[in-house]
Amino acid sequence: MTRPQPRDAFKSPRFAQPATFMRLPHATDLTGVDVALVGVPFDSGTSYRPGTRLGPREIRTQSSLIRPFNHFQQIGPFDHLTVIDAGDVDASPISLELAHQAIESRIGEVVAAGAVPLSVGGDHSISLPALRAVARAHGPLGLIQFDSHIDTWDEDFGSKLFHGSPFYYAVTEKAVDPRRFVQVGIRGPMYGADDFAFQREHGISVLDIDEVGRLGVDGVVAEIRSVVGRGPVYVTFDIDVVDPAFAPGTGTPEVGGLTSREALQLVRGLAGLSIVGGDIVEVSPPFDGPGQITSVLAANLLFEMICVVARGRQP
Ligand code: MN
Ligand code: MN
Repeated sequence: MTRPQPRDAFKSPRFAQPATFMRLPHATDLTGVDVALVGVPFDSGTSYRPGTRLGPREIRTQSSLIRPFNHFQQIGPFDHLTVIDAGDVDASPISLELAHQAIESRIGEVVAAGAVPLSVGGDHSISLPALRAVARAHGPLGLIQFDSHIDTWDEDFGSKLFHGSPFYYAVTEKAVDPRRFVQVGIRGPMYGADDFAFQREHGISVLDIDEVGRLGVDGVVAEIRSVVGRGPVYVTFDIDVVDPAFAPGTGTPEVGGLTSREALQLVRGLAGLSIVGGDIVEVSPPFDGPGQITSVLAANLLFEMICVVARGRQP
């Protein structure tokens, strides 16, 4: 079976042709698709410095460097899965409600077609409509959240929807099963001692950055796998879990985070889980460092996620 392949870098230079994720074909028809890469250029849920609406375009551009075989996972995902760049959600930059409706609707189409949606944001608020759409098909989901922030606050400036609240509503709406929800890499100054009350109340697992340091990559992977188990799971990767030395291009940087190598290894460690959706969010190109290093990292993390989904579907 011939599946869509990234544009051949031996025939077309990597920097030529309109940019798509991994140089895959851009397609809107979801028939027979296993994984749909969906851009979500939306940052009106941002509480501090903006710019993540420009994330999908830049990550497409930087993903031109990705080669099609993963040595560490020993898989060429595009030989096993039909993966496309499904384009962007045309999300309103003015209305959070309308934007979230558009995101939920498009991700719902992807899921209804039997494909796994992997979204590229955008600010973290986009995970809520994505989780709603995926949970509608699969029931309450396990959730792996890589982030320096908890994102379980219930509102900001009078708006329930913002990039610090997606998991409050995902849990209270039962799109996510809190017993199968683990947060990894949490750090930074908090608002108060009761910021984790929601986690305690619902039985959400938290591996803060010091715990990550104590356990090491293998220990964290083991803990994640024991929390989420074998059921359907969604992976959300907020790039600010990575140290701003490696990923400066983000809206709310927190010092003392993961290295880019640890981030890649942690995502690799998810191979074999039943991943039914995921996203990479909070990449803000206007704040990026020289060489667009944050977008380069995000593109590589997206590739690792595709490989993890491919390995999860192998017999
Ligand atoms: Mn976040
Ligand atoms: Mn964050």
